[in-house]
Amino acid sequence: MELIDKNALVEYLERMGNEIYAGNDEYFIGQKAGLMKVVSVIMTFPIVEERQHGHWKNGCCTVCGESAATDGHFDFIAEEEQKYCWNCGAIMDGKAICDD
Ligand SMILES: [Zn+2]
Repeated sequence: MELIDKNALVEYLERMGNEIYAGNDEYFIGQKAGLMKVVSVIMTFPIVEERQHGHWKNGCCTVCGESAATDGHFDFIAEEEQKYCWNCGAIMDGKAICDD
């Protein structure tokens, strides 16, 4: 399964729809209506999983508690370079939001 950003897709489709000058041309009116219908269908689909935001605290993910990834003593990966938790997929930008 590949995850996509639902809001980014909706924004893209709405922008495409707004860029179509329909005028009185039935073809473009239909194209614009079709795009807007797709947007409304996408909006009705359930969110499977909302990506959580966390940060590394004492070497562990604040969402799932798993230790930060490392390749060993010689190939250490700094926490600042780990933008996502390898275990739960949390985005590691939440320090300012949930600084506990
Ligand atoms: Zn995690």
